[in-house]
Amino acid sequence: MTQKIFVAGEWRVGRGDAMVSRFPADGSLNAELNAAGLEDVEEAVEAADAAWRAPAWRDRLPHERAEVLYRVSDLIRSRLEELAALQTRDNGKPLAEARALVASAAGTARYFAAACETLEGELPTQRNADFMTLSQYEPLGVIAAITPWNSPIASEMQKVAPALAGGNAVVLKPAEATPLMALKLGELFEEAGLPKGLLSVLPGRGSVIGEALVRHPKVRKISFTGGTNTGRHLAHVAADKLIGTSLELGGKSPTIICEDADLEQAVKGVAYGIFSSAGQACIAGSRLFIHRSRYDEVMDRLEAIARGLRVGHPETPGVHLGPLINQGHRDSVAAYVDQAREQGGRIRCGGEIPTQGELAAGSFYPPTLIDGLAHDSAVCQEEIFGPVLVALPFDDEDELIGLANDNVYGLAAGIWTSDYRRALRLAGKLEAGTVWINTYKKFSISTPFGGYKESGLGREKGRQGIQAYMQQKSLYLGLDAAPMNWCD
Ligand code: ADP
Repeated sequence: MTQKIFVAGEWRVGRGDAMVSRFPADGSLNAELNAAGLEDVEEAVEAADAAWRAPAWRDRLPHERAEVLYRVSDLIRSRLEELAALQTRDNGKPLAEARALVASAAGTARYFAAACETLEGELPTQRNADFMTLSQYEPLGVIAAITPWNSPIASEMQKVAPALAGGNAVVLKPAEATPLMALKLGELFEEAGLPKGLLSVLPGRGSVIGEALVRHPKVRKISFTGGTNTGRHLAHVAADKLIGTSLELGGKSPTIICEDADLEQAVKGVAYGIFSSAGQACIAGSRLFIHRSRYDEVMDRLEAIARGLRVGHPETPGVHLGPLINQGHRDSVAAYVDQAREQGGRIRCGGEIPTQGELAAGSFYPPTLIDGLAHDSAVCQEEIFGPVLVALPFDDEDELIGLANDNVYGLAAGIWTSDYRRALRLAGKLEAGTVWINTYKKFSISTPFGGYKESGLGREKGRQGIQAYMQQKSLYLGLDAAPMNWCD
């Protein structure tokens, strides 16, 4: 059966090319569908533009708008197992990780429902003799939300919830590899009573459907999560249209183990930071800096952990690393490791594509630990987006900060030390939008998230997350009853 897509509140066969969704664990077919066509983009944006202006949405009181998000959150929670299973089929994450992502999407919907109910305008000037001013938040209009394949439903909700809460309409273009979760989200919003047209879900190629969407004159903001090159391109498109962007891009995040760190905690945290989601996370802690005095000990312990991680079928309980998203991506990860080998890097563990048993059928890659490379090598500098950790020793803080910041990205960083003064001193010097201290890859929806440098522009999450999808209108209220004393 052909999976339908969600255009302007209707389920229909897409008018674009045929595409398929496959299970990364064994390549089996999840669904066949037709991508959105250019007519679908046109129809979705026109419907979105009418829907956000219609009184049915525009005149809804904030708590009434929030009601839809609360209902979606409840629906997600009540179907958590079904959704997690679909998430695993869609992108190959182990079920436990998929459950956590689905639960986080429910939390995000609730958070932005509450933010919507409690959003307040401002009274910038108190009454003075002549006038007073008010500033209120208004929607932007139609938002193009473009998402990657690594955390479906969670990354989609992070855009859709605040945008709808802010009174906008959203046209969502999920990644080619993971259309199913985004379409499911469309179904959930429909069931929760979202008026027609406020959300469309258009699977399809980025360069065709994504491109047509962001260039549409009625799209008033681009909210994008994905690779830095695509983000830079979208920033150009937005600049031409003079519209805003929110860009969550790549990373090559440094994690630092100081000589006074609790090593048991640090090595487990570092392993989680890079190897969970098989390293397919923009925030993966992929560059490790270890104080030279603890270097050998840390590397031995990390190697032991990495060798003990279970790589396997993502539906099997207890599996740590599922497959990578597809064979093409797995090959690109493997090519980086081959390059490390050629340049004299030491592959402490991993580094070989599995060819035996059930792992041979999917796009698996083992946890891989490398050292002995120069920091300016491509493996140390570029985002690999796989379970590959490169380690380097450091001697002092100045050298450490120089190396840690010597990268185009600035998404996240981790510090493991028992000295909080040192942790805060280092955190202050690191060029990163998020710094974890004695923990890693923990998230709170109330904490703003975004990148420094080429890791992005703007912030998602947090109470201000809703304002990112709104614009301020300032009102001056004249209080002087007399005519202006300017002309006779
Ligand atoms: P990845 O996350 O795989 O590195 P991308 O950044 O290219 O790759 O993909 C993230 C999202 O951006 C996907 O949904 C993709 O289809 C979309 N995309 C890619 N190119 C464009 C484009 N030119 N215009 C709009 N969207 C795009």
